[in-house]
Amino acid sequence: MIHNFNAGPSILPDQVLQEAAQAVLNFNDTGLSILEIGHRTPLFEAVLDEARSLVRELMSLGSQYEILFLHGGGTTQFMQVPMNLLDEAGTAAYIDTGVWSSKAISYAKLFGRVKVLASSQDANYTYIPKNFSVDPPVTYLHITTNNTIYGTEWHRIPDGKGVPLVADMSSDIMSRVTDFSKFDLIYAGAQKNMGAAGVTLVVLKKSLLGKVQRKIPGILDYQKHIEAGSMLNTPPVFAIYVTLLTLRWLKAQGGVAAMDKANTEKAGLLYDALDRLPVFKPTVVKEDRSRMNACFVMKDPALEQAFAERCKQEGMYGVKGHRSVGGFRISLYNALPLSSVKDIVALMEDFAKTHG
Ligand SMILES: *Cc1c(COP(=O)(O)O)cnc(C)c1O
Repeated sequence: MIHNFNAGPSILPDQVLQEAAQAVLNFNDTGLSILEIGHRTPLFEAVLDEARSLVRELMSLGSQYEILFLHGGGTTQFMQVPMNLLDEAGTAAYIDTGVWSSKAISYAKLFGRVKVLASSQDANYTYIPKNFSVDPPVTYLHITTNNTIYGTEWHRIPDGKGVPLVADMSSDIMSRVTDFSKFDLIYAGAQKNMGAAGVTLVVLKKSLLGKVQRKIPGILDYQKHIEAGSMLNTPPVFAIYVTLLTLRWLKAQGGVAAMDKANTEKAGLLYDALDRLPVFKPTVVKEDRSRMNACFVMKDPALEQAFAERCKQEGMYGVKGHRSVGGFRISLYNALPLSSVKDIVALMEDFAKTHG
């Protein structure tokens, strides 16, 4: 028995893997592989259409939102967002909650003015800053809803005072009930919670566009992608197909509400063990703990190797913390079954008993 706690790329539902494997050999009984059909064919157009409409349905998005499937990962969005939205004389507001938001900030500075309204760097990003205010005129406010590396998550959407809200949701998209209508632009690399690496979901209000002076190369221009229906060039066909399969699975489970319930239970079990067992120390303040990535260290650092070794022996994959943080990180994405959490909690209890 193995358990996959990888932070990204990460666990996918078994059914999705089976169906994806089948489609590589024989897609929809065509005798062709999903890898060898043209993207401008009715076969692939149906995949793209269904993926788009599932995103719209699962996130309850109104018609004011456009849905794009793009290349380049979350990282390309760090650049594409300011390139399309922020004029050189304009100011964008960012909240710095870790590695990914810092990167987004450094890219945005190449295109306009950036005001970092708050940062939790002073405490190694172990909390979400709350005391800041957005003072217009600001072109947009950018947040990272879940900080994959540090294990913090925004549990309340900040009040942007009418300023358009942009969010990197790469690692918690569709993991919890969210009022997505509060956001003006959302992006998420698929490989954490929604599919395979290679495609990035971008949801945006068309009304944000057409306000910057600069010339934008077509491939980086949201407007051009909207007009072309995510077919400006060859889209990441297979990655979009795996996303479609994952969205179908998600809907069959009961949608985002069912994910929310399951993720609450999984995170509850794990954090309860981390708080209760004296050998472990969670690193994030309670109120800001992520339900997707739980970070912790050992109270006695000398026990780290023994715990890592024990996890390895018992088939617990991907529990090592990010290289910039150390310690451990257990990721609890949508596809992770409750039984995996129960098994690692049992291991932790046993470890605490023998090393207490
Ligand atoms: C993983 C991650 C990224 C980077 O995504 P890439 O697809 O590797 O570019 C950006 N933001 C967050 C929150 C992430 O977890």
